[in-house]
Amino acid sequence: MAKDFYSTLGVSRTATDKEIRSAYRKAARKHHPDVNPGDKAAEARFKEVNTAYEVLSDSEKRRKYDKYGDQWEHADQIEEMQRARASRPFGGNGGSYTFDINDLGDAGDLGGVFSQFFRRGGGPRTMARRGADIQQPVEITLEEAYHGTTRVLQLAAQEPCSTCGGSGEIAGATCHACNGAGVVVNPRRLEVKIPAGVASGSKVRVAGEGQPGYGGGGNGAMILVVTVRPHPRFERKGDDLIEDVDVPVTTAVLGGEVEVPTVTSRVMLKVPPMTQGGRIFKLAGLGMPRLSKQGKGDLHARVRIRLPHDIDDRQRALFEQLREAGV
Ligand SMILES: [Zn+2]
Repeated sequence: MAKDFYSTLGVSRTATDKEIRSAYRKAARKHHPDVNPGDKAAEARFKEVNTAYEVLSDSEKRRKYDKYGDQWEHADQIEEMQRARASRPFGGNGGSYTFDINDLGDAGDLGGVFSQFFRRGGGPRTMARRGADIQQPVEITLEEAYHGTTRVLQLAAQEPCSTCGGSGEIAGATCHACNGAGVVVNPRRLEVKIPAGVASGSKVRVAGEGQPGYGGGGNGAMILVVTVRPHPRFERKGDDLIEDVDVPVTTAVLGGEVEVPTVTSRVMLKVPPMTQGGRIFKLAGLGMPRLSKQGKGDLHARVRIRLPHDIDDRQRALFEQLREAGV
C-alpha cells in the first residue's frame, strides 16, 4: 500500500527542501540494508523512503503530488484534459486524446472527435471525491433530432493492470501484460441514445461514464453536448420549423394547391387567390417533436412567388395583355 510521502519521511506538508533532505538522510541511514542485513521490512521501508524523497525533493513532482496525491504521475494528462475541456469548441479536437464518435446511421456522417479519460482504482484515499463530468460535443442532423438517434462512443479507458494489480511488476520482474506501466488501455463501446426533440445546446447525460471518483466517490457523468447541423430547407425556431415554399405566380393570383415538404414526407397546401409573397401559412403539428413532452411544434410555410424561367412568344403576349389591362 502506498503511504503518504510526507509521513514516510516524517516531515510536515509545509517542510522546506532542507528539512526534507535532512529527514531523508536520517531515514535512509536508519533503514539502509547494510545496517539491517536480512531485514525485509527495513528493505521495504528503505525503498519507500527513497521513493518519497525522489518526489518531494523535486519541486515539480512535489507540486503534482500536493495537488493530485496518488494520481500525481498522471498530473500532466489530468491537466491537459482539464485545459482541453475548458477550451474545446464544438467539434474541435482537444489535445492528444483518443476518443471517437462514429455514426451508427448515415455513412456520410462520421464524426472524429477525440478525447480520453482515465480510469484508475486502488490506493488508499482519505477523501471521497466524485469524478469529473466529461463533456463531449456531438453533431447530428435535423432528421436525427426529429426521430431521435444513437451515437457509439469508442472509449479508451486506462485501467489498472489486472495481471500485476497495477504495480507494473510481478515478483521483481516487469509485468508482461502492461510492460511495467501498471495500467492497460481497454477500448470500450458505449452506445448513447439521443432523444427526439433535442436542439443545439441540449445535453444528454450518461451517469457513471465520466471520470472515476477518488476514495470511494462515484464516477462523474458523460455529457454529450448536442449541435444540430443547419438544414438546407428548414429553419428551426424552438420546436417550430420555417421553410420557403415556391408558389407559381398564376397559383398565387388565381389560388390553387402547392406541395409542401415536411421533415418526414409532404403535404398539399391550399393557397387562396391573391396570395402575396412572404405570407406564412401555419401547418399545426408538423414541426419538431417536443423534447420529453407530448406533441410537436408547427411548420410555417412562407410563400415565395416563383416566376417562370423562360416564356415563349404566346406567354409573353399574354403578359403584355395583362400589363395593358393594368395588372
Ligand atoms: Zn501489469
